Amino acid sequence: MTSRWKDVAMAAGLASGDGTVRPTIFAEMSALAAATGSANLGQGFPDEDGPAWIREAAVDAIRAGENQYPPGRGIQRLREAIAGHQSRHYGIDLDPDTEVLVTAGATEALTAAILALAGPGDEVVTLEPFYDSHAAAIAMAGATHVTVPLVPSGGGFAVDRAVLSAAVTPHTKLILVNSPHNPTGTVLTREELSDIAATAVAADAIVITDEVYEHLVFDGASHIPIATLPGMRERTLTISSAGKTFSLTGWKVGWVAGPAHLIEAVLAVKQFLTYSGGAPFQPAIASALTDGDADIAELRETLDARRELLLASLTRAGFTSVRPQGTYFVCADATPFLTDAVPDGAAFARWLPAHAGVACVPLSAFCRAGSETADALSNWVRFTFVKDDATLATAIERLETRLSRG
Ligand SMILES: *Cc1c(COP(=O)(O)O)cnc(C)c1O
Repeated sequence: MTSRWKDVAMAAGLASGDGTVRPTIFAEMSALAAATGSANLGQGFPDEDGPAWIREAAVDAIRAGENQYPPGRGIQRLREAIAGHQSRHYGIDLDPDTEVLVTAGATEALTAAILALAGPGDEVVTLEPFYDSHAAAIAMAGATHVTVPLVPSGGGFAVDRAVLSAAVTPHTKLILVNSPHNPTGTVLTREELSDIAATAVAADAIVITDEVYEHLVFDGASHIPIATLPGMRERTLTISSAGKTFSLTGWKVGWVAGPAHLIEAVLAVKQFLTYSGGAPFQPAIASALTDGDADIAELRETLDARRELLLASLTRAGFTSVRPQGTYFVCADATPFLTDAVPDGAAFARWLPAHAGVACVPLSAFCRAGSETADALSNWVRFTFVKDDATLATAIERLETRLSRG
């Protein structure tokens, strides 16, 4: 008898020898940060809540009585706002009644889509490193996880075209894309996306794309939804959420958009995961998606400035880092600080809070145990810059004054 939860724990790297589930590395590092009074640049959630007017809109909705189950697909006004957002930003036209589904964050959309469309015997291809819930959902579905490394190359992280072609086979059911990419901060180029699209068409695979950082791009990079590439609209489910875009991660309002028959499949699963949720948040996010472009631009500017501060500080402290074009994160190579006692990124992340008063997470936490990518990135760690000015200043001062090379 096997229990699916064990596969899930294993896929997420959380299986411990005694049959229990370990806390995630994010929880472990946050606990360590709290215990040591460290500036927590580990877990990536904002210190500052999103715009007051959006929060007030949710309060108004509670007062106005929007407190019972919303429709399973989400309220009409939010589905229309999501369709409007996709059309305004990317020229993607969607029927809000059949091609948009509101979910409990991007996480539920991802899990419901993977459970709906993949099962035992199917292969699901992702980039590696990957967001932890992607691997867990693939394991829940009982499907096989195949990865394509995203490895340091010429100052950034890149997809190797040959490895991608070899990974996508007739057994590939789904290709899971994530751009802007967590944890590396990579924004996939049109060429990389075209290569992925070509392999998807050749294998007749469906693409699921996690675009939760779609608006958090820097240096003039542009986010290209893979659904906009030729031939991709009919085989792509595009997933995003309000959490990162509006600094409201606890509201868990997400969505998935794509062709009606695929949305129907996701709905069939989603309605028995949560059915629906977030009644008063849905109208507030509808307004945010319609009238919040200035707030998004302001967040992007604030984060851009924090990104520069952190990058400069990491360089002064002695790290080699990759300049991220998107997301909340900077990845850095901790090799100069490693010693016999602190031999890799995971050990460094556990050592740093007590010795320098800063927390980060190792990139190996986003890789499969023992994989080639885990090996290539074994000395790398991820820092987030989505922290208030005081926390970031504290972290920067400590990294520069308390760290010395091993
Ligand atoms: C934060 C995050 C999510 C989760 O989004 P929710 O809307 O909070 O469920 C999904 N994918 C990536 C890559 C993330 O960083």
